[in-house]
Amino acid sequence: MEKPLLSAVGLTKHFTVGKTIRPGSGRIVHAVEGVSLDVMKGETLGLVGESGSGKSTFGRCLTRLYEPTAGRLEFDGTDITRTGERGLLPVRRRMQMIFQDPSASLNPKRRVRDIVGDAVRVHGLRRGRAVNEWLDELMDLVGLRPEYLDRYPHEFSGGQRQRIGIARALAVEPELIVADEPVSALDVSVQAQIVNLFTELREKLGLTYVFIAHDLAVVRQVSTRVAVMYLGTLMETGQTDALYAAPLHPYTQALLSAIPQPENRGRRRRILLTGEIPSPMNPPKGCVFSTRCPLATERCRTERPELAKRADGRAVACHFPLEAAGS
Ligand code: ADP
Ligand code: MG
Repeated sequence: MEKPLLSAVGLTKHFTVGKTIRPGSGRIVHAVEGVSLDVMKGETLGLVGESGSGKSTFGRCLTRLYEPTAGRLEFDGTDITRTGERGLLPVRRRMQMIFQDPSASLNPKRRVRDIVGDAVRVHGLRRGRAVNEWLDELMDLVGLRPEYLDRYPHEFSGGQRQRIGIARALAVEPELIVADEPVSALDVSVQAQIVNLFTELREKLGLTYVFIAHDLAVVRQVSTRVAVMYLGTLMETGQTDALYAAPLHPYTQALLSAIPQPENRGRRRRILLTGEIPSPMNPPKGCVFSTRCPLATERCRTERPELAKRADGRAVACHFPLEAAGS
């Protein structure tokens, strides 16, 4: 079997919030709780789930912007769970992160040439004239005119700014890109263009993506495989088409029920998502979805289901997955 490019095993991230006068007196936010997930070379792994389910925190742990509280993280076979900044430098080149709002990280006082060029120089990848040639090439890759290199961030539209964010990520020739809601702030028409750009770049450059989004339609478009997250844990993973056609977890079914799509019509039981996500400071004991699941039994409320791999390559964390329930 192929080896994963990135592998998370039992990855956990807790935040301590509130009063910390006495050590240990703060309250613990269980943002990510024991997530195991492999990212295979060349795939686009879509990560979906409602707001607050821990997607961003997990993404930041994957790229080691956050240090995990527990669990293990391996990049290309090397354990990077606790690697310090100096040791991480070569890893940081090989995996880049893209955010929802590129403006926040594009210094308004600097030209695109300097913003994107810095990334190249920090890693010492190219020198002198080769830097400028590479910058021209990058602009071409992301569909911007090379003369835009001499403009400032405020001179661009939202979609163009995201293209600059992508160019900056690509500047260091990464293998893996973790994109956190990269199109969520854009107009729908622009979203499609940027989604297409992601797909195009993957094919051209052989990239691997973790694509985080709360929008299931966007994730379906771009992903080869999908992982569904809820309250810090994984509910289900599977190839995109299979998962969307026949979700196994009631939570996935509920998410899909909420979006208009032809598959919903009469084919399967519709599960309406009611109530709020419980507080991650006090997650339910058994299945984290049990408080909102219409199918939950006593077992669900007491015993947390493992994410169980199935023969068909899918995996589901549910005592009574939909297919088995004959729905
Ligand atoms: P998502 O990206 O799916 O919306 P997040 O990863 O942003 O989810 O958040 C997961 C949970 O962790 C939320 O309850 C959020 O409030 C909490 N959280 C995220 N970052 C922090 C932080 N730095 N400090 C405390 N709590 C946080
Ligand atoms: Mg988020």
